[in-house]
Amino acid sequence: MLRLYNTLTRKLEPFETLKKGSVGLYTCGPTVYNYAHIGNLRTYIFEDILKRTLLYNGYKVKHVMNITDVGHLTSDADEGEDKMEKGAAREGKTAWDIAEFYTKAFLHDLKDLNILPADKHPRATDYIKEQIKLVATLEKKGFIYQTSDGVYFDTSKLSDYGKLAGLKKQSLKAGARIDMGEKKHITDFALWKFSSRVSPSAREGARGEREKRQMEWKSPWGVGFPGWHLECSAMSEKFLGQPFDIHCGGIDHIPVHHTNEIAQSEAAYGKPLANYWLHGEFLVIPGGDKMAKSSENFITLESLKKHDISPLAYRYFCLQTHYRKPLTFSWKALEAAQNGLNHLYAASASLAGSIVIPSEARADEVEDTPRSESLSQSITNQFLTHLNSDLDLPAALALFWQSLKNHSITQKQLFQFDEVLGLDIKSHLKKPIEKISAAAQKFVSERNTARAAKDWPKSDELRKKLEEMGYEIKDTKDGTEITNK
Ligand code: AMP
Ligand code: ZN
Repeated sequence: MLRLYNTLTRKLEPFETLKKGSVGLYTCGPTVYNYAHIGNLRTYIFEDILKRTLLYNGYKVKHVMNITDVGHLTSDADEGEDKMEKGAAREGKTAWDIAEFYTKAFLHDLKDLNILPADKHPRATDYIKEQIKLVATLEKKGFIYQTSDGVYFDTSKLSDYGKLAGLKKQSLKAGARIDMGEKKHITDFALWKFSSRVSPSAREGARGEREKRQMEWKSPWGVGFPGWHLECSAMSEKFLGQPFDIHCGGIDHIPVHHTNEIAQSEAAYGKPLANYWLHGEFLVIPGGDKMAKSSENFITLESLKKHDISPLAYRYFCLQTHYRKPLTFSWKALEAAQNGLNHLYAASASLAGSIVIPSEARADEVEDTPRSESLSQSITNQFLTHLNSDLDLPAALALFWQSLKNHSITQKQLFQFDEVLGLDIKSHLKKPIEKISAAAQKFVSERNTARAAKDWPKSDELRKKLEEMGYEIKDTKDGTEITNK
C-alpha cells in the first residue's frame, strides 16, 4: 500500500485514487524566462520519482506540467515586472522568443536527467480563453473586485482560505510595511492585470499611462494579462478535471501559489481542487539559503557538466536525500555523487556482464551465481516497501547497493529497480556475456593452477590468450572476474 505525506492534512495517508487504477497528476512547471537552476530541477526529479513509483505500482498516470510563459511577476504580491518581459529586455529579444528558447532548454534538461516526459506541457498563453472563463465564473459568484490595476480575488469571501499552509486569519492583516495598493486584504491576489492603469478618479474609460507590454489580451474587464495562479487552475481543470488526484510543487508554492490555486478553483467549482498535495524541500546552499534564480547562486545543469558532473550524477545526488528534507549543495558532495554513480555502474556491470570464477573451482564447475528465489522475492518486496513509505529513496538506494555488493539480486531485478531510480543503468553496462566458452573456462582454470604455483610467465601467457579471445580478466579476492571487452 502506497502511503504519501499530504501537505493538506499534514499526515501520512494511504493513497487512494479517484478512478480505479489511474492517477491524474499535475505538477507546476517552470517560468521560462531563464534556464532552470539545479534547485528547480531537484523538484522535478522528486516529481519524476513520484510518477515512476505510481507506474511501478501499476497505476496509469496522466501527467500535466504547465509552462508559465506569462503573468509571473517579480514579486509574489502581484507587483513588479512580468518575469518574461524582464527576460526579453535583458536579452534584447521578444518575450515570445524568450519563452520559446527557455522552454526548449528546460525540456532538454528534463531529458538529460532521464525525467519521463509529461503527457501534456500546456503553455499559459495558449489557454487565455479558459482563464478568462474562470474569472467570469468567479465574477458571477461574487468573488472578485476591480482596482485601477486589475481584477482581484477577495479572499475574505472564503472561510477556509489558507488551509493548505495553515495560515491564521489574524496573521493575515496588512502589516505597516506591506504595500497593499488598492487591495482590500493582504492575501487578495490578482486574477487579471491591466496593461494600463485605470485612473481611480475617472474609472469610466479614462486610461492612465500605458505600459509597453508584448503579451496582452482583451478581456471583459480590460486589456491585460492573467495573474500567475490562474493558469494552473484553468489548465488542470481542462486536462484532468476537478478534483484530480495529486498536485505537486516545491515548498515555496504552499503559502501563495497553491493556496491561491485552491482558493480560485474551489470557489469557482465548489469542490476540492486535488486530493493529495505533495511538496519537495529546497536545494540550499551552505548556510541554508535556498538556491534562487535571482541570486548569485545560480547553478545550471550546463555548469555541472563543465565541472564533469553528469546530469545523472545530479539525479543520484538527489535520490540520496528524502524529498521532504533540505539538501545542501556543494561541489565536493557532487563529486562524491559522481564517484558513487560510477561505482554503481561498475558494480551493476559486474553483476550483469561478468562471471566470477572462484580460484579453487574447477572450470567445468563454473556457472552464473545461483540466487535463491525467496531471497530475490524478499528484496523485491523490501524495495517496494521503501518506495511506498512516502518515497523513501535513500532506503531503497541503500538496499539496492547492498544487494549489488553481495550479488543477491538478478539482472532482471536490477533493471526493474532502475525503472524507478531512473539512473539508466542499462546503457552504462558493458555487453553482458551469455556464457563464456568452454575453451576460455579451461584457460581460466589453467591460469588459476599456474598462479597457485606462482608460475607468472604461464599465467601472463594465458591472460593474453583470453584477451585475444575478447575477454577482460581481473583478479579479485573472490576469484577471477571475466568480462566481455
Ligand atoms: P519557478 O520556475 O520559479 O516557477 O520554479 C519551478 C519549481 O522549482 C517550483 O516547483 C519551485 O517550487 C521549485 N524551486 C524553486 N527554487 C527551488 C530550490 N532552491 N530547491 C528546490 N526547488 C525549488
Ligand atoms: Zn501552479
